[in-house]
Amino acid sequence: MEAILNIYTVEEICRGFTYNEAEGKGLFGLSGRLTIQPEYQRNYLYAEQNGAREIAVIESILNSYPIGLIYFNKIDDQHLEVLDGQQRITSLGRFLTKKFAVRDKNGMEQYFDSLPEDKQSKILNTKLLVYECEGTESDIKEWFKTINIAGIPLNEQEVLNAVYSGSFVTRAKEEFSNSQNANINKWSAFIRGNVRRQDYLHTALEWVSRGNVSEYMSQHRNDTDIKELKTYFNSVLDWVNSVFEVVEKEMCSLPWGELYEKYHTKPYNPQQVKETQQRLYENYYVKNKRGIYEYILGGCQDTKLLEVRCFDEPTKKSVYARQTEEAKRHEVSNCPLCAIGHDANHARIWKLTEMDADHVTAWSKGGVTDITNCQMLCQAHNRAKGNK
Ligand SMILES: [Zn+2]
Repeated sequence: MEAILNIYTVEEICRGFTYNEAEGKGLFGLSGRLTIQPEYQRNYLYAEQNGAREIAVIESILNSYPIGLIYFNKIDDQHLEVLDGQQRITSLGRFLTKKFAVRDKNGMEQYFDSLPEDKQSKILNTKLLVYECEGTESDIKEWFKTINIAGIPLNEQEVLNAVYSGSFVTRAKEEFSNSQNANINKWSAFIRGNVRRQDYLHTALEWVSRGNVSEYMSQHRNDTDIKELKTYFNSVLDWVNSVFEVVEKEMCSLPWGELYEKYHTKPYNPQQVKETQQRLYENYYVKNKRGIYEYILGGCQDTKLLEVRCFDEPTKKSVYARQTEEAKRHEVSNCPLCAIGHDANHARIWKLTEMDADHVTAWSKGGVTDITNCQMLCQAHNRAKGNK
């Protein structure tokens, strides 16, 4: 039995995708050359449980997480069928043909054609690694058993190292996959994973290639040095260390390459950064400590990154009661912004469930999250204020 590795884009694999609604099967891809669901395969399961699994496939791709290896069986020169990966491929095909939607950051449902163009092309251009096996069915089954007994399947970077083996990979592994390298300890503050399973090399490649690892490896396959890879990697970490003097455990595995690209030309005062960082760490209301870094780099504007804790229920109820009582006395709305307006809501008394709690002085401007700084606004006004 023979197996070769191939790389296809999502667009190629899903070209000509058809889905049989009646039988619940994804049928064809690769312009008809690929049978996605041979008779002996299970039916499509990822649409169950409200599609949680098929949505996860799309979200993985949008987040640049690998969705794993795929195996095809080569029937003849023109025809392939899916041995392993039919559920993932069917999810992709169903999304591209608008059979289901994912939710964006604001909780809005987005079908493929309503996604922004850069996200559409990210999905279409995502590369999938495919093993194409050729042999008798028993050969293939035997081989499957072997790779499973061998236990740990190859991860994405291990496969890429095999595909693009050559002088570049050899040099790169000496530097980034060598547990004897004295720098590993220092790097481990920012990179998570296993040196020998190529996680450090993968991160270094992701950074220098801006996420296009396989393309980069193919371009540099025959390079005899890794100068650019090494220099870029060190620039990113030197920059992080120069901005943030205090290293916290939440800094591990943040997307430092992306943050470097976005912010490294901006000036920062390390002393000020250190104080802000400490203040945010001590602040009970900051729920997402990992968000502190991008928040600081972005000039302390985007509080969404911090997932600030909200007002608690007793506070909301008591502020609501006070506002409503006062509003009724003056015959105006219990939403202070409706009350100063002149439209139909001027005197409207909203129910508690129709209102949201708002910081009078914005949290980012030092406003506290307690009853002294809480007002209830109708949902429309709260939303309008939040967008400013
Ligand atoms: Zn209002």
